[in-house]
Amino acid sequence: MLVNMKYLLDNANRDGYAVMAVNSVNMEMARAVIEAASEEHSPIIVQMGKGQMAKLAHPDDILPMIIAMAERADVPICLNLDHGPDFETEVDAIHRGFTNVMIDASSLPYEENVRRTRMIVDLAHAKGISVEAELGHVGQAADGDGKTSDMYTNVEQAKDFVARTGIDALAVAIGTAHGKYPAGYVPKLDFDRLAELKAALKMPLVLHGGSGSGEENIRKAVAGGINKINVCTDAFHAAEIAMKEKWEKEPGTDYLNIMMTAEAAIKKFVKEYIRMIGSNDRYIFEFADNGSKE
Ligand SMILES: [Zn+2]
Repeated sequence: MLVNMKYLLDNANRDGYAVMAVNSVNMEMARAVIEAASEEHSPIIVQMGKGQMAKLAHPDDILPMIIAMAERADVPICLNLDHGPDFETEVDAIHRGFTNVMIDASSLPYEENVRRTRMIVDLAHAKGISVEAELGHVGQAADGDGKTSDMYTNVEQAKDFVARTGIDALAVAIGTAHGKYPAGYVPKLDFDRLAELKAALKMPLVLHGGSGSGEENIRKAVAGGINKINVCTDAFHAAEIAMKEKWEKEPGTDYLNIMMTAEAAIKKFVKEYIRMIGSNDRYIFEFADNGSKE
């Protein structure tokens, strides 16, 4: 079923696990992600950004399909606009049936971030749609962002931001960055800051730039109070490697087989990731066999 993100993340926050948010740019990816979640009895977030919708995930085509797939599923699924950059994109997403929108005004001055975020919260909440915003700034790995603490989320400012905007989830900057890190580089996350943020806010926190952070960092982040992990580069990479191997093993294999290989690889990757962050088996009845026979 299709639900808003507040529902998913409040449960994750209460029970101490994280939900994957996978940037899904075509039918095969969305289907792989939703099937993986269903097989793991896990909630999941299907998301896409403005640039991805402009390039491949054309919203007129893909959104009705994803919404139908989500409605049919036996686990809760959220459809999230990732990094909404402007008013038009946010309103368009609300009209199109996204059940959560992220407003990213994190590169603007603080008061402007508050003002824009508050406005989107007013619009979205009126329609039962939840809102994620970002404070501090998660930059681009390719630019070397995340290596200095200049842009990290400030705890006192975060308390003020949440109180004044009414957001449902906060993306925090604690040392990760978007995209691919240089080969061999593993980001160092500020777990002390995460602990302070969680203690002060007690609300769902979001980690962007999760790809390439390494399993140890991800597990520690979830234990420290992260409830949503954005995954884009790592999911693409799982498909890219599988397609390349398929082509090398069977040169001349056809489009159908390549696409099926990509879908299967993403599904496997998502299932493993779900188990790593502990959202598996959250929606399953297990009847204990007490040996009684009627
Ligand atoms: Zn992001």
